[in-house]
Amino acid sequence: MSATSVFSPTEFQSRLERYLFERSEEWRAVRVGEKEVSEQAEIVRRFADLFSREQMDALHEAETSAAGDDRELLYRLRKTCESGLISSQLAEREDELENRLLAERVTFHGEDMPLRNAQAKLAVLTSYADREALGEIQAAASAKFNDDRLGLLRATEELAAEYSGIADAVERNEEEKDISLSELSRALHAASVDSTQSYGALRDRWFTKLLGEEREGVPSSYHTAYMRRLSPLEATYTKDRATEICLQTLDALGFDLNAQPNIKLDLDDRPQKSPRACVIASDPPKIVHLITRAQGGLHDSQAFLHEAGHALHYAGCDPQLPYVFRRISRDHALTEIYSYIVEAISREPEWHEQYFGLSPEQAQENAEATTFLEALLYRRYEAKLRFELDFWSRFNGDGGDADVYERLLTEATGIRYKKDNYLSDMDAGFYSADYLRAWIRSAQLRDYLVREVGGDWWRNPKTGVLLTDLFREGTKPTSEEIATRLGFGALDTKPLLHEIGA
Ligand SMILES: [Zn+2]
Repeated sequence: MSATSVFSPTEFQSRLERYLFERSEEWRAVRVGEKEVSEQAEIVRRFADLFSREQMDALHEAETSAAGDDRELLYRLRKTCESGLISSQLAEREDELENRLLAERVTFHGEDMPLRNAQAKLAVLTSYADREALGEIQAAASAKFNDDRLGLLRATEELAAEYSGIADAVERNEEEKDISLSELSRALHAASVDSTQSYGALRDRWFTKLLGEEREGVPSSYHTAYMRRLSPLEATYTKDRATEICLQTLDALGFDLNAQPNIKLDLDDRPQKSPRACVIASDPPKIVHLITRAQGGLHDSQAFLHEAGHALHYAGCDPQLPYVFRRISRDHALTEIYSYIVEAISREPEWHEQYFGLSPEQAQENAEATTFLEALLYRRYEAKLRFELDFWSRFNGDGGDADVYERLLTEATGIRYKKDNYLSDMDAGFYSADYLRAWIRSAQLRDYLVREVGGDWWRNPKTGVLLTDLFREGTKPTSEEIATRLGFGALDTKPLLHEIGA
């Protein structure tokens, strides 16, 4: 690696803007099925001059002599340079593993299929025994890649330690997120313990309702995607109405997505399109893509509302902000607050009543299913964070222990998570902690909205006005700063306990 030139921070920022725009647009084209071959590598090559040791050091030097917002801006530029430098060295290896995973095939009931399709199929197979059998097959196929996953993790870790100058993974992530992960984990664990009894009651009721009487006492994780779709309630939450209902829901808050030209909607059903909803903020606030593909089930609406929260956030930022504060953040904890709060509308009983023609009793019952799923997901992520803290604090010692993954996640959820899954279930950079912070914060925000706007916050345009003010700040504030503004302590989990039915 040799760099011929070093950009000034201003030049670096505008070239980075160009680079991320091209990568985002390429990613979008492949994701929606417009292109069959991804040409990211070509873009990375063209912009290779952005990512060098010299460039990173130059940004670091500028950062050291800056103060306030400028210092924060330069910090984020330096960290972006650092991660670009790491991925430029590992991109080939990552692509190679990704392509082998894409090529991996399994056989189920005589049918030969890609591993990825087998995983997607688990969400829609109606027979308990079939899901169990296919789950075993896909888990075994996926586990064959664990040595490669671990090798890549180790290589990434070595480079991150070298470039950041912080050898310990936990310490490095705490520095970047500017929080204590162990304090966060302690507060979250206490909330999980406090919700154990209420979760137990929800779980017993909804496991049986969703999985049937034949279910095991502790079902395997192979049934989670099926439960998450609320597949048995599919007749109510049909595929063809999901989009229209979500657009009306947002319109009630004062967000008319059809009239907001900077949010590019791609809601079509095309066979080559990935079924996972996503937002690609190519050039916020001017170009933000919101991409969904309805599959049937309540999950369609939840995924749409979630992504709409991200899209409104990016599309609502002040265009006068420097690029960094419109697009780049230290982590994902801030933007996930806004996706979570919009998705939270789907847990309001009256929303089910108003849009799906249900009786108040039926609406209440279906909303309870969403509370059960929320509690399940929260407890799963809380346990995941405890596992990841254990794993990474032992990584440079004995290397960590997959048994801890199985024990903690199974205890927390009442669902059996097999230890072989510990690497494929791990998100980079403690993303679990970002989701969990958003869980705490969005519950605080909902509590705030109920007080400021009223119980009808989810269909009141005053909510739109309050959210618009928050969106204007772009990616600049931290999740913890939002807590202060809402009048809460950063680790106050009382509203969250209410949200998950405790
Ligand atoms: Zn999200």
